[in-house]
Amino acid sequence: MKLLKERIMRDGKCFEGGILKVDSFINHQMDPILMKSIAVEFVRRFASTDINKIITIEASGIAPAIMTGYLLELPVVFAKKKKPVTMENMLTTTVYSFTKNRNYDICVSKDFLRKGDHVLFIDDFLANGNAAKGIIDLVNQAGATLAGMGFIIEKAFQHGGEYLRNAGVRVESLAIIDSLDNCEIKIR
Ligand code: 5GP
Repeated sequence: MKLLKERIMRDGKCFEGGILKVDSFINHQMDPILMKSIAVEFVRRFASTDINKIITIEASGIAPAIMTGYLLELPVVFAKKKKPVTMENMLTTTVYSFTKNRNYDICVSKDFLRKGDHVLFIDDFLANGNAAKGIIDLVNQAGATLAGMGFIIEKAFQHGGEYLRNAGVRVESLAIIDSLDNCEIKIR
């Protein structure tokens, strides 16, 4: 997606350890016009896919997920990182975060992820694929079907995309970063 790639090259910042900071337009301050274009592109790419629900993980996945859900007129459910005391009946799994270097639990109510659902997972970044693997676990626990996964940015050098595609998951990434070596952004 040309507009997104240009924006990453213009405003993205590279950090040690292969981290790309995009907090002026995606992760902290958000650009709703760009986010709308991102959602339009997800809708285009998944146009022929049977989907009845969008799933994401709080917090950074919510903006692209809700824009996509709005365009498709589908409900959007986000996996929570803290179990609310009021949430019974939930599915839970553990995800390792390499940006935070720790494990965290994500959970979703069985009321909102069920057998028969065809879900599209939307998130901001695909790196090692741990968040995606957590979602696959929740989808399997629910007996739902994973229709596909859409990421704003995939960091190909961390191989999560390779793992998911080899596992037969339909993965669509709107910008693919081949390298952040020497703090230089190399975009495909
Ligand atoms: P994964 O689970 O695929 O290893 O990592 C995906 C999650 O880690 C994303 O949801 C995102 O929150 C975070 N993440 C991974 N790499 C980056 C990065 O380079 N920049 C930012 N801002 N977040 C990242």
